Parts: sequence; structure tokens; C-alpha cells
Amino acid sequence: MKIICIGRNYIDHAKELNSAIPESPLFFLKPDSALLPKKTPFYIPDFTKDLHYECEVVVKINKLGKNITKKFAHTYYNEIGLGIDFTARDIQEECKIKGLPWEKAKAFDGSAVVSEKFITKEKINPFDFNFSLYKNGDIVQNGNTNNVLFDIDTIICYISQFMTLKIGDLIFTGTPAGVGPVSIGDELVGFIENEKMFDLKIK
Ligand code: ZN
Repeated sequence: MKIICIGRNYIDHAKELNSAIPESPLFFLKPDSALLPKKTPFYIPDFTKDLHYECEVVVKINKLGKNITKKFAHTYYNEIGLGIDFTARDIQEECKIKGLPWEKAKAFDGSAVVSEKFITKEKINPFDFNFSLYKNGDIVQNGNTNNVLFDIDTIICYISQFMTLKIGDLIFTGTPAGVGPVSIGDELVGFIENEKMFDLKIK
């Protein structure tokens, strides 16, 4: 499986990082080795001094597809989860300045946290629900999927022009404003509406 991440999908987040607003979905990949194993704490890697959380809605692909039309995109997923796209912000800034790819900053082991729990489309409208992240009990990120530049169907249609989507692939759909650093001892708890999706300890 592969993990596809969308960048700058929430304007308020693109602005907080002084990034340009994309005209089409900006995406990058994380390898399957980036997936944090279940029930495992996250260990901050030593190569960064500025590790950031980015809380994101995650969509699980459940059908093989290529060149998917927007009209049929909704038939390629049924479950929605929540995750964290961990980012070594100091390394990413260096990569951006030098025009280099982001893998060192975004694709390292454990950098993709995905909730064990997923919610089916029957229980939630993919285009309009709230999600939030709490750090040590304080709310730090709060988004609604109706605030995106590119909704999930548009993303699936766009990505599938370039790469085949396979069963089990995960799409991280971008983060709202409020990204920030984590330190050893922090606890990150993510919610979709009032449902707790994950509870992660930072070590
Ligand atoms: Zn992200």
C-alpha cells in the first residue's frame, strides 16, 4: 500500500506557513514503512529539532482505480479515519529553500499515524464534519472538511490521473491551521466530531 498526502489544502494553514495557495492538489507520498504500528508510542527522531504534528482526515481506498471521474470517486472509499502527518519542520524548510523533495522531512518511519478506528460514510458526511486535535488537554487544531480547497472526490479524481489507486491505500487530506511542535511527554488526542479516534504518547 501507499500513503498519499495532500499539502496546503486548508487556506488558513497554507497562510500560517507563508506558502502559496495551490491551483491543483499538491501531493506527496510516504512509504508503507512510515506507518506507525498500532498501539505504539511515537519516538521523536534525533535528526530533527522541530518536529510538528499535522492532524488530518484520512480516507481509505477500497477499490482499484485509474483515471477515476469525479462523479464516481465516491465509490472508491467507504471509511474515514483521522491521523497525524508528522513533519520535521526544520528539515522541510531547508528542503523548500533548496528546492529539494520533502521525503526526509515527511516520509520517515512512524511519520504516518492512522487511527485504528474508521467511520463509514453512512455515519458521516465526508464533505462536512468537524475534527480536532488536543495536545496535553488543550485544543490546538480544529477543522471542518467543508473548508478544503479540494474535496476528497476531487483529490481522488486528480491523483488517479497520475497513479493507480489500490485497495488499502491511504490519503491524508491536509491539515488546518494550528500546527506546532511536540516534545517528549506530550499526549495528542484526535477527535472526529465527539468521537475519540486516537490517543498518542510522544516519547
Ligand atoms: Zn500534512
